[in-house]
Amino acid sequence: MKKSNIIKLKELLSSPQKIVIIPHKNPDGDALGSSLALMHYLKNKLHQTFVISPNDYPEFLKWLPGESTILKFSQKEKKIKSIINNSSLIFAMDFNDLTRIGDLNEIIKNSKSKKIMIDHHENPKNFSDLNFSDPRISSTCEIVYNIIYKLDAFSINKEISTCLYTGIMTDTGSFKYPSTTYKTHKIISELIQYGADGTKIHQKIYDESSLNKLKLLAIALNNIRKVEEHPVIYITLSQSELNKYQFKKGDTEGFVNYGLSIKEIKLSVILIENKDEGIIKMSFRSKGDFPANSFAKKYFNGGGHINAAGGSSKYSIKKTLHNFLNALNNFKNEF
Ligand code: 5GP
Ligand code: MN
Repeated sequence: MKKSNIIKLKELLSSPQKIVIIPHKNPDGDALGSSLALMHYLKNKLHQTFVISPNDYPEFLKWLPGESTILKFSQKEKKIKSIINNSSLIFAMDFNDLTRIGDLNEIIKNSKSKKIMIDHHENPKNFSDLNFSDPRISSTCEIVYNIIYKLDAFSINKEISTCLYTGIMTDTGSFKYPSTTYKTHKIISELIQYGADGTKIHQKIYDESSLNKLKLLAIALNNIRKVEEHPVIYITLSQSELNKYQFKKGDTEGFVNYGLSIKEIKLSVILIENKDEGIIKMSFRSKGDFPANSFAKKYFNGGGHINAAGGSSKYSIKKTLHNFLNALNNFKNEF
């Protein structure tokens, strides 16, 4: 992290500010954990701070310290527009391209507030005044830890630790992805020292599922297929299958990983129909050096990290699968 960036950030925070913190659309543990940790830090420093999520998020994140204060743009557009217009600073958390925040895109683009990006995805777009962007780091939460540590290490309390632990845990697949370094573990050990309860956080995220979620997993596993000529697995879930088990946001989280548990499989994809949005949402997970992000970007209007990426298609499941198989044939040198 550049020393000059920390100095610039200190300068921006040297008097009380009106601050807006924005995670990406469909925020995950890292986006919400980093946003809330930063909120707790800034509030303790007497800044006026709002976390604004572009839309709703899964139940398993609705216990994070401070979560109940989050404003959802899709539910309170007018109020939120005025908060953004009256702000002095905007933090962009866990995304590097304004297209990742849905309908907030134009409002943020046109805002005169200073913008600060904190993120760990590749190829950042140029929309911020100050950038804390490093794709080598496991999670945005790990970067936020490094920033707060430099600003005021003594301010890291139980609330901040709990939020940061959650984001690092979820973005590293519970500390197993290659992005997990000795530094990640060192930070985790410090977060535990400052009050994060790893067992409790793990249970809150992974062990409070509904029976319907498990039944939906059974359907997904039954729909699992191997692509004959490539080390690739795909899973499909149609809208009617989702409806049958009263699908709720977050219920399909982690399903795609089952494909990768099979020996010699290098890529697993799940295709989930969303009739409301008229799209098939796709999640990609890979092992080794298969670049899931380049594949998602090239063929399915998406992106992400080398081993975990997402994208979408506006065609039917059948046509999307057909396009997927063609894309694999074009990309076969990567296997
Ligand atoms: P997931 O499969 O869990 O939705 O997303 C995995 C990773 O891919 C995350 O890092 C997320 O930020 C990224 N990602 C998911 N969907 C999209 C998308 O539509 N566009 C881009 N650029 N990245 C995505
Ligand atoms: Mn992240």
